[in-house]
Amino acid sequence: MRGTFIMPELPEVETVVRGLRKNIIGKQIIETTIFHERPLGTMSPEIFCNKVEREVIERVERFGKYIHIIFASKRSIVSHLRMTGKYIYLSQDHNKNYTHKHIRIAFLFADQSSLLYKDVRIFGTIRFYEAGEVVVEKVNIGMDPFSKEITTDWFVRKAHTRHISVKQLLLDQKVIAGLGNIYASEILFRAGVSPFQKAHTLTTRQASRIIQHMRDILKLAIKYNGTSVSDFRTIDDKSGSFQNMLQVYQKDGTLCVQCHKTEICKVRQAQRSTFYCPVCQKMVDEKE
Ligand SMILES: [Zn+2]
Repeated sequence: MRGTFIMPELPEVETVVRGLRKNIIGKQIIETTIFHERPLGTMSPEIFCNKVEREVIERVERFGKYIHIIFASKRSIVSHLRMTGKYIYLSQDHNKNYTHKHIRIAFLFADQSSLLYKDVRIFGTIRFYEAGEVVVEKVNIGMDPFSKEITTDWFVRKAHTRHISVKQLLLDQKVIAGLGNIYASEILFRAGVSPFQKAHTLTTRQASRIIQHMRDILKLAIKYNGTSVSDFRTIDDKSGSFQNMLQVYQKDGTLCVQCHKTEICKVRQAQRSTFYCPVCQKMVDEKE
């Protein structure tokens, strides 16, 4: 089936990370089955299996939209779900009878539970790193939205060096890592900033509102286990529920919930759909 797949953003990845923490910390991998080698990149399946088997999972972290599974040996796996990647946790008694479709990699733990990596279109990645090896995905990655280093001044300074729209700036993973189309649209709506405004014209007040709403929305979305507008699932195969709280994303044609004056618009902006209210998100061209 070819549907519209929407890439998981920070809250969805954080939901997966929290699910993994709850279920796989302290577990030892005893067997790995590779059904498709593409997620492994250039590493051969034999070498990958050899490296991860017998490893014990110590921590699971997130950076940007990446999942970082760190073993007790300090070796690690870095994974990106891209469009359709999913982790599914199975408790004991499945007898390695992996009935889910599109399973690409299966990790069996010593207690007979399993972690499956499912990916319909196989754009997702699972990369192995030796202890101390530079994690390529971390090089040049932007700031985490919850990092204390993100201040209004920092954001204004970053914005003022760029001749792109504010929306594009929020999507730039080298500035702030973790936002995608859904949350960028929601943040700008709640901050009352036009997605088309040029980044270099961003005012201090606007920057401050963007940062505040970014953190509020992401926190709330994590609390509701992310947004399932396409096929996002938690690792126990449940939907998130933040889609019920979206105010502009895919709300084109509905009355704006803030001004009640006009309908939410949808336009193409840099190959993506942008949703906004033309009344609440007016263009500001000059610095305040
Ligand atoms: Zn409005």
